[in-house]
Amino acid sequence: MFIMMLGMPGSGKGTQSNLLKEKLNFYNFSMGDFIRKEISDKSELGSKCVDATSKGELVSDDIIFSIIEKNFSFLLDKNVIFDGFPRNKAQANFIDSLLNKYNKKFDYVFYINISEEAVINRITSRYSCKKCKAVFNKTIDKDLSVCKNCDSNDFETRDDDKYDVIINRLKEYKKETHPLVDHYSSILKNSFYNIEGERDSQLIYNDLLEIINNK
Ligand code: AMP
Repeated sequence: MFIMMLGMPGSGKGTQSNLLKEKLNFYNFSMGDFIRKEISDKSELGSKCVDATSKGELVSDDIIFSIIEKNFSFLLDKNVIFDGFPRNKAQANFIDSLLNKYNKKFDYVFYINISEEAVINRITSRYSCKKCKAVFNKTIDKDLSVCKNCDSNDFETRDDDKYDVIINRLKEYKKETHPLVDHYSSILKNSFYNIEGERDSQLIYNDLLEIINNK
């Protein structure tokens, strides 16, 4: 089974993907996490992604296609959540035709719908544990002195969560990614779900599970 998480950066796609992954024992393919790992490992691939990610721009399609091609045979026979991919029309066409070749399609496209203002508030208060990468929010987890997950006291803010970069990421989202909402709501009508994203993450998660369990 294949699930796609669609929505603005900071809409909660990553949080929901992680919750669903645990519950359903799915493999979570987060393109952003994959790229961040390559960058922190200082790999050749990572070095090609640094410039775009630090500016809040999309990494070039050629690089994204090669990441998908390399990982596709591993993903093909699994239940997978795609978080942060596809992110533009070319990537959508690429994965649509790849899936089609194997007689597969996205079983669920979850569009997490949230306002730009809410995203800016959320992202500017986001920080994470340097050691285990768990993500926290200053408005919810006030004054965290040690990580709830691993007890480390070393925290960081993602470079691309800085205000100027966020504005650029939102611009890219509107221009490149948002058109996929129309694309998938028209070609995958019965698998597309518009999810109200400005709610408690547990309520959103309950809705997603209910949709998956009742289909
Ligand atoms: P995310 O954590 O999903 O917001 O991704 C962080 C950054 O990684 C993005 O701002 C892009 O620079 C890059 N990135 C992630 N997914 C993609 C993708 N599908 N296509 C191009 N760039 C991507």
